[in-house]
Amino acid sequence: MKKQACNTLVIGAGIIGISTAYYLKKHQPDLNVILIDSGQPMSLTSAQSGENYRNWWPHPVMTAFTDHSIDLMETIAEESGNRINMNRRGYTLVTRSDDPDQLMNELVVGYGQAAKDLIRVHEAASSNYQAPISREWQTAPSGVDVLRNQDLIRQTFPSYDPEIKTLIHIRRAGDISGQQMGQHMLDYFKSVGGVRVTGEVVSIDKTDAFQVFLNNSEVSIQADHIVNAAGPFINDIAEMLGTSLSVRNTLQQKIAFEDTAGVIPRVMPFSIDLDDQLIDWNDEERELLAADEDYAWLTENMQGAIHCRPDGGDHGRWVKLGWAYNDTSETSLSRTPQLYENFPEIVLRGAARLNPGLKTYYEKLPSKMHHYGGYYTLTDENWPLIGKMDVEGAYVVGALSGFGTMAACASGDLCARTLLGRELPEFAGCLSLQRYNDLPLMEELMSMSSRGIL
Ligand SMILES: Cc1cc2nc3c(=O)[nH]c(=O)nc-3n(C[C@H](O)[C@H](O)[C@H](O)COP(=O)(O)OP(=O)(O)OC[C@H]3O[C@@H](n4cnc5c(N)ncnc54)[C@H](O)[C@@H]3O)c2cc1C
Repeated sequence: MKKQACNTLVIGAGIIGISTAYYLKKHQPDLNVILIDSGQPMSLTSAQSGENYRNWWPHPVMTAFTDHSIDLMETIAEESGNRINMNRRGYTLVTRSDDPDQLMNELVVGYGQAAKDLIRVHEAASSNYQAPISREWQTAPSGVDVLRNQDLIRQTFPSYDPEIKTLIHIRRAGDISGQQMGQHMLDYFKSVGGVRVTGEVVSIDKTDAFQVFLNNSEVSIQADHIVNAAGPFINDIAEMLGTSLSVRNTLQQKIAFEDTAGVIPRVMPFSIDLDDQLIDWNDEERELLAADEDYAWLTENMQGAIHCRPDGGDHGRWVKLGWAYNDTSETSLSRTPQLYENFPEIVLRGAARLNPGLKTYYEKLPSKMHHYGGYYTLTDENWPLIGKMDVEGAYVVGALSGFGTMAACASGDLCARTLLGRELPEFAGCLSLQRYNDLPLMEELMSMSSRGIL
C-alpha cells in the first residue's frame, strides 16, 4: 500500500475545502497540506451556487462574518485584476406593505450598532438616492437605502409590480464567479506546494495521527490534522471519526434561461419579493391542482423570498430565478439529486408577481433553459459550523446552507486560523460547535422569526 503523509488533510474540494486549503497556505506557506476529493474540484454543491453575496442578515454575528468574507473577496478581486468577476448592484428587498416596521426592526438588529450610520431613508420622489446603474464594486455605495416613495420606486425599477410600496436596497451585495475564485485559490495552493489527491475517503483510524483510507485500497494518507469540508457529506466523515454533527440537507433548485423577450432590465439588482403569495394559476389550473392531493399545496399560501436577477453581465441575456421553499430534510443523499419537474413553472409564476413581464414565458419557457439544484446543508439555526470537532486534531468547516460561496473566504480563513492557533475575530466562537454550550444564544437564535434562508 502506498502511504502519503501530511500535516493537514482537507477532505472536500468544494469552495469551502479549497478556501480552507488556500488560507492554511496563505497563513503558513510551508505547511504540508493535502486536499482530497472523490471527484473534480468545485463539481458538487459549489457548481450549483447562484454565486450571490450580501452582508444582510438578521443577526450581527452573521453580518460581521459575511462582511469579513466580502473584505477577503475584495482583496482577491484587487490582486487578481478581478478574475472573480466581482460586481455589486446590491440586493433589493421589496414589499407591498407601507408599514414595514418589522422589516425595519430586523434591519436595525441585523446591522447592530452600525445601523444608524448605514441606513438612509428616502421619503420623497426626488432624493439623493444613487440608482444601481454601474456594476463596478469599487465605486458602489455602502450601507442601505430604504425607498418609501412609490414614484421613486417606479421610476428607478420600472419592471417591478407597481404596487410595491417599500424597497430596501442593500448596497454591499452582488455576485461573483465562484468557479473562478476556486480556480484562483487552487492555482495559489499549487504554486506553494499544496498537493491534490483524487480519491474517496472511506474510513479513518485515529492513533497518534489519523490514518485515512481511500476507496482505492492502494493508498492511505497519514495526517496530524483533518479538516472535514465534505459539504453534504460532513456527517459521513464525522461518523468515520466516531462522532456526529447536528446538520440536515434540503434540496433547493434554481432555473436560468435566456430572456429572449428582454423583460428583465440588465441593471436590475438581485431582487427579492418578501411577500407571501398565492401562485398565479388560472381558475382551471387551480381547480385541477387543488383536486390532487400531491399538488394541492401549490394552491395554498406560499412563503416570500422568491428571487430573480439578470445573469451574464450587462450585455448578456440570461436570468436566474430561485425560491428556497423546500424544507424537507433528505434521508438519503445523491450526488445527482432528482429535481422536481414542475419547479420551473412554479418559480416562473412566483417570480412574475414582482416582475410581471415574466408572464410572457408562462408555459413557454425558452428552449435555452437550465434547471439545476443541490443541497443546502444546514443547522437548525442556519449558522455554519467552523472550528474544532470533538475529536482532537479534527476540524469542521461546513453547514454553509445557501451562503457558502459568499462565506467561503471567511470560513476558510477562520478554520485555518483555528487550526494554526492564530488570532481569531470576536465572532468566531459563535460559529463553532462551542455555541451549543451558550444556551441564551441558542435560545435567541431558535426564537428568531427569520434565519436568513434565501
Ligand atoms: C441551488 C443552490 C444555490 C445556491 N446559491 C448560493 C448563492 O447564491 N450564494 C452563496 O453564497 N451560496 C449559494 N449556495 C450555497 C453554496 O453553493 C454552498 O454553501 C457551497 O457550495 C458549499 O460548498 P462546500 O465546499 O461545503 O460543498 P461541496 O461543493 O458539495 O463540496 C464538498 C466536496 O466534498 C467532497 N466529498 C464529500 N465526501 C467525500 C469523501 N468521503 N471523500 C472525498 N471527497 C468527499 C465532494 O465530492 C465535494 O466535492 C447555493 C446552493 C445551492 C444548492
